[in-house]
Amino acid sequence: TKHFPVRRRLRDLFSQRHDAVHAVDDVHLTLRRGQVTALVGESGSGKSTVARLLAQLYPRTGGDIRLHGESTAVKSGAAFRRYCARVQMIFQDPFASLNPVHTIRYHLTRSLKIHGHAGRTAEDLENALHELLGRVHLTPAERYLDKFPHELSGGQRQRVAIARALGAEPEALLADEPVSMLDVSIRLGILNLLRDLKERLDLAILYITHDIASARYFADQTLVMYAGRMVEGGDSETVTQSPAHPYTRLLIGSAPDPDRLAGDTDVLEEDRGDGEPPSLIRPPSGCRFHPRCPVAMPRCSTDLPVPLEIGDRPGHWAACWLYDTSGTEVRKVPS
Ligand code: SF4
Ligand code: MG
Repeated sequence: TKHFPVRRRLRDLFSQRHDAVHAVDDVHLTLRRGQVTALVGESGSGKSTVARLLAQLYPRTGGDIRLHGESTAVKSGAAFRRYCARVQMIFQDPFASLNPVHTIRYHLTRSLKIHGHAGRTAEDLENALHELLGRVHLTPAERYLDKFPHELSGGQRQRVAIARALGAEPEALLADEPVSMLDVSIRLGILNLLRDLKERLDLAILYITHDIASARYFADQTLVMYAGRMVEGGDSETVTQSPAHPYTRLLIGSAPDPDRLAGDTDVLEEDRGDGEPPSLIRPPSGCRFHPRCPVAMPRCSTDLPVPLEIGDRPGHWAACWLYDTSGTEVRKVPS
């Protein structure tokens, strides 16, 4: 099997943007080609920070990101440039991510040229543009190429953003809430398109969402983040059907219908009645979830839980002291 390892190891990372400080700590993840990995968490959990770090949009204060085992720590290096071409980001708001003064043709041509895939002749370029739009089912291409972003619907704009990312011939797509700003009726179409592209182009996809129900539908692997740390991970079916961490259980319990897909309510926003997600500037001691946890024990407020393997599903783990006696430590938390 082909592996596409992007390893994150971040320690005490702080990044400032829009008055918010996001701290992401000790996050490890590996993306593999042909797989969708969902990163689930509420607003302020640090999930978008992880995506932006992976896209090399934020500076980092520690850790490393690797492509096929090659470190990208040196920003001027060849490995860094290779990484930036092969790992493309799709943003939440397809209107903001496309420049309103330029046509679709301009956006796609620019992507093809930057990444050296425009071909040598005008005809090569035209063919490449048609192929890109065909891949995202915007056909016939002539209908879209000379339009401006505002002439397209939200769903069409997100398809253009995906086509632009594909112009780089990436190995991985980082999709930060790619459907949450779209009309509920078209979300499924975009997720199905991404899943189809994953298969046809053998892409690794990181799917960032606050909606754990859509992770179950769409992702092969699911990771749950709380207050800047990963608290549970495993194959999506196991994590969503048999969640182990009290926080994941809360998420699933607060979803009105577990089979609904990318519904229009932010279950985590609603959940704030029970308690705010903690500040990442000064996260709670011990288990960061302990102030909200219904089954917290005395040690939870002082000891940081280590990731422990859960039950008999390989790869299923949770960072929670409930599993201290039955579990086996699968990864030591680096000190
Ligand atoms: Fe709750 Fe303790 Fe587990 Fe944290 S470690 S989720 S506080 S039981
Ligand atoms: Mg976000």
